Amino acid sequence: MIKTPPTSLVRRTDWPTSVSRPVVTPLQPSVVYASPDPDALDAQYADASGFTYAREGHPNAEVLARKIDMLEGADNGIITGSGMSAIGAVFLGMLKAGDHVLGGDQLYGRSLRLMTQDLPRLGITTSLADPTDIDAMRAAIRPETRMILVEVVSNPTIRVADMEGIAALAKETGVLLVVDNTFTTPRSYKPFEHDADIVIHSVTKLLAGHSDATLGYVAARDPDHRTLINDANVTWGLTPSPFDCWLAERGLHSFELRYDRAQDNARKLADALAGAKGIKRVIYPTRPDHPDHNRATAVLGGQGGNMLSFELEGGRAAANAFTRAAPELAFAPTLGDIGTTLSHPASSSHRGLTPEGRSALGISEGFFRVSVGVEDAELLINEMTAAAAATV
Ligand SMILES: *Cc1c(COP(=O)(O)O)cnc(C)c1O
Repeated sequence: MIKTPPTSLVRRTDWPTSVSRPVVTPLQPSVVYASPDPDALDAQYADASGFTYAREGHPNAEVLARKIDMLEGADNGIITGSGMSAIGAVFLGMLKAGDHVLGGDQLYGRSLRLMTQDLPRLGITTSLADPTDIDAMRAAIRPETRMILVEVVSNPTIRVADMEGIAALAKETGVLLVVDNTFTTPRSYKPFEHDADIVIHSVTKLLAGHSDATLGYVAARDPDHRTLINDANVTWGLTPSPFDCWLAERGLHSFELRYDRAQDNARKLADALAGAKGIKRVIYPTRPDHPDHNRATAVLGGQGGNMLSFELEGGRAAANAFTRAAPELAFAPTLGDIGTTLSHPASSSHRGLTPEGRSALGISEGFFRVSVGVEDAELLINEMTAAAAATV
């Protein structure tokens, strides 16, 4: 037995070789990668190949990015530490003081905050307009407008943006079109097929699908834009953890199955809730009574997605009664989980607005947004209609 000092344990061992290979992507938590010599390291930095330091890139992010690329028809997408850091990387990489950004007026809550508070602090001006109203969007374009940020389906009112009009407006005015495709996912809408310049995801939601990883994704049509966004991601340290990427890849494998099932459930649930006792109205894109029904059909091609909203006849007391009558439904401010989750905008995402501000959007105290999961449709319908009936 050779006597070795205990410190030699810190020397890293070579991975055991095997002719067979693992069928599951290995989890690689290494922060640093050792190079054979300075020439090799120099060459690696020069052509940005391989891995050196995990903030600059790591295998689990790479594997995940290439898989989401396949769904979006993208080339060389980037994984970020959250959906918000994907948006942050786009803004930080591509904008400078004096630029103007136009956003949809019903973006995700933190995106609205970024637009209305944080970008102005950095000298970037912003305005918000209704993306279902192309004239309002056009009127908000300025000579210094650099970018339009929209979501295809709005939160929580499920309105469908005039994507064709907005893409044409962006092209005509030379403004970059950035689409946050989190709600719709590439299963319902592929922004790059409709002239988007940049596509963003909160991978946290439907793509990863199990509420156990916080991640974002961003892809750019123009490789120069990709470089700017990637540099912002790496420099500002917005980069993801290998473990979250590993979990998200595992979740992504079942994404299309989950989405199709959840969408099927959502359509059935929307129809069952419409006209049910205690329910005032239901908002789901493929229903004929949806306010943007024709556009929804044109934009989403019948893929209504897993998100629906409904309004109870009653107010806050009815809302309380609804969640208490359905304790098995997770009342939690997220979406895209494998199971159904309920959110109540007046007490969560939209609590910062005045009651008048909320009612201008059509969000009352009886308003709920549902992220429909993959449970048995009949179970869901029974739970929800019973809970709605318990409010009157
Ligand atoms: C959740 C969400 C985000 C933010 O994503 P995080 O992963 O929570 O940072 C951005 N946009 C939309 C539409 C979202 O739903």
